[in-house]
Amino acid sequence: MTQTVAYIYHDPILESVTEPINWEVDVQNLYVDLGDRQALGQLMQLVKQGAIHTLLIRQIRDLGDSIESILHVLNQLEHAKVALRVMQGDLPKGTDSNWIQQLQWLQELNQDQHRQAIQKGHARNRLAALPPPGRAPFGYRRGKDRYVIDRAAASIVKDFFENFLLYGSLRGAVRFISQKHQKKISISTGRNWLTNPAYRGDLAYKNGDVILNTHPPLVSREEAAQVDRLLRRNQTLAPKTASAARSLAGLVSCAQCQAKLAVTSTRSRGSKTPNYLYLRPNPCGKGQSAPDRCPLADYNQVLKKTIQRICRELPQRVSQAQLPNIEQLKSQIQQQLQAQEVRLAQLIQLKENGILDENTLQIRSYQIRVEMGTLQDRLSQLPPASLSMISRSVSIPEFWQDLSEAERRFYFREFLKGIWLTYSVKGKGQPAWRLQSLDFVF
Ligand SMILES: [Zn+2]
Repeated sequence: MTQTVAYIYHDPILESVTEPINWEVDVQNLYVDLGDRQALGQLMQLVKQGAIHTLLIRQIRDLGDSIESILHVLNQLEHAKVALRVMQGDLPKGTDSNWIQQLQWLQELNQDQHRQAIQKGHARNRLAALPPPGRAPFGYRRGKDRYVIDRAAASIVKDFFENFLLYGSLRGAVRFISQKHQKKISISTGRNWLTNPAYRGDLAYKNGDVILNTHPPLVSREEAAQVDRLLRRNQTLAPKTASAARSLAGLVSCAQCQAKLAVTSTRSRGSKTPNYLYLRPNPCGKGQSAPDRCPLADYNQVLKKTIQRICRELPQRVSQAQLPNIEQLKSQIQQQLQAQEVRLAQLIQLKENGILDENTLQIRSYQIRVEMGTLQDRLSQLPPASLSMISRSVSIPEFWQDLSEAERRFYFREFLKGIWLTYSVKGKGQPAWRLQSLDFVF
C-alpha cells in the first residue's frame, strides 16, 4: 500500500508554525521539519522503498536549502515515480519533471553568473595592472596592489639566475641553489623561473597579455635577453650536452661523415685523473660500424685550434654581420617604446583634465601597455648590441687562457653553433685532424 503524504519545512527564524494548511486531499502522514532536515530524510527513505505514492508540499523551496539539494530530492522523487503536488508558492503549480528542468536551468544560470563575476573581476584586475589571482611567484609577496620583493627568497632566485647566466646550464643552476640554499626545485620549475615574466618586473595574464614594469624585477632586461638567447641555443643541443662539463661538448662534428664527436677520456692504470681527453665520433654517421669510424681527435688540440680560429675570424664576422642594422632596429623599437610612454602620460593628463573617465583611461592605457609588452619582447629577441664589444675581448688569445672550461663554454655558446673537423691520412702515420670551419650563430 502506497501513501499520500505531506511535507512541511519551517525556518524557525523566518516564520512561526501556526497556520493550518488545506491539503485538499486525504493525507495519511505529515512530516514536519523545524530548521533541520530530519523528517525529510525519513521521508526519502520511504520514497526509496517505494512506499510513497503522492507527496504534497507547500512550496518547492521547502525541499532543500540550495538549488542543488532541491534538485537532488526532485530527482529521487522522479526516479521513484512519486507524484509531487505544490500547494502554494509564487512559482506556477507544475508536475515533477517540469520542476527539475526549471531548476536545472536556474542552477546553470547561477553558475554562469558566478563564472562571469569571476571573469569580470580578473578583467578589472588586468585593466588596473593588478597581479593575477593566486600566490605570488617565489621571491615575491602579494602587496596591496602589486608584488613586493621577499628579500630572503629573492636572493635565492637571483643566485639561480646568476649561475645560469655564468654557466648556461639549467641543471647546474638548479643544483647550485639546492647546495647553497637548500632550496630544492624541479628542472621544470627552474625552466619556468627562467622565462617567468614576473621576475622581469612584468605581469603576464592567462589571455597572453603582458604588462611591463608592474613591480620591481629580480632580473634586468639585459640579463633576461641573455637568458632567452641561452635557452634558444640550448634547445638545439641535446639536454645532456648543454650542461656537460667540457666547453666543446656537443659542438664538434666530422665534416666527412656528419657524425657528432663526443668527449671521452682515457686514464692510465691506477691513475684517478684522466690522462687524455679525446673527441670520439659517434657511430651514427653513414651507419659506420666501430672499426670504420673516423679516428679519435685530441681534445686539447681541437680546443686550441678553435680558439685560434675564433680570434682570427670573429672580429671579421661581427663587422660583416648586420650589426649596424640591429643597433638601428633597437633604437627604433626603443623610440616606439618611448612614444608609448608619452601617450600614457598624455592619457593621465586627459583624465586629470576631466576629458577621460577612469574606465576609459584604464582600457586605453591597458592597450598601450600590452603594445609595449610586445615591443619589449621584440627588443629582447635581438642579438646583444654588446656583441661587437664582446668580440673585441674574446679575439685576444690571452683572454681564453685564464678561463675555466665552464666559462669558455659560456662564451662559445654565445656565438658558436658548431665546429667542423676534417681529417686526412698521410702515409702510415696517424690521421691528422684539421679544423675545417666554425659555424657562427649570426
Ligand atoms: Zn667522420
